[in-house]
Amino acid sequence: MAEQYPIIVEHLDHWFGVGEARKQAIFDINLKIKKGSLTILMGPSGSGKTTVLTLMGCLRDVMGGSVKLLGTELNGATEAQNVAARRKLGFIFQAHNLHDSLTATQNVLMGLQVHGAGQEAKQKQAAHHMLELVGLGDRSSFLPAKLSGGQKQRVAVARALVSNPEVIFADEPTAALDKESGLNVVKMLKELGQTRGTTTVMVTHDNRILDLADRIITLEEGRIVKDTESGS
Ligand code: ADP
Ligand code: MG
Repeated sequence: MAEQYPIIVEHLDHWFGVGEARKQAIFDINLKIKKGSLTILMGPSGSGKTTVLTLMGCLRDVMGGSVKLLGTELNGATEAQNVAARRKLGFIFQAHNLHDSLTATQNVLMGLQVHGAGQEAKQKQAAHHMLELVGLGDRSSFLPAKLSGGQKQRVAVARALVSNPEVIFADEPTAALDKESGLNVVKMLKELGQTRGTTTVMVTHDNRILDLADRIITLEEGRIVKDTESGS
């Protein structure tokens, strides 16, 4: 199952707050995400998109129901299991979170250091290669201040991809980008799915990129109200 469906969500519920302030935010989400697919999560602000993404991405403890990520059950997982699961993931956020004092190459290298793999020269080569793939080969020595918004987000994409993750979670990665840069970022993620079998789940409000999605899931008030692939 994990081979074909890297993410399997069953009866997922989630609550925020304690005592009288406790409030259910997510209600009975069920999903099986196909390997190599690009899935988009849509819905109004506050509908639960980020909560679902962070639960699937092992960034938040699963409280109710089940998330199986690459074969690991996240409900009740130990910290060691969470760390091991996160190593197989790439994250891209709206705020690209680049380190201002590091060059593009050094920022991309941050995506490898947590993986603790290989030697320095090899890692640098991988980082540079990734920057070339996102069209920034000639800017690898630039600091973020010298890059445009779209270029910074492409560095963030390179950082998320350099470790060759099996699953990528992206939360509004194109929100700060112009139309063309946004499309390019999503096209890149789509291509990775096709060439490497990378699975991507992305939150977006951006209507312009919906055409690229294999599947579109719409949330409202913590529930799935529409799914272009319902039943699977
Ligand atoms: P979206 O990403 O779709 O805008 P979120 O997943 O961020 O929505 O939020 C879903 C619901 O959960 C909202 O009602 C929000 O107020 C609530 N929520 C999100 N994060 C927290 C938190 N850390 N503490 C309390 N409530 C939260
Ligand atoms: Mg959000």
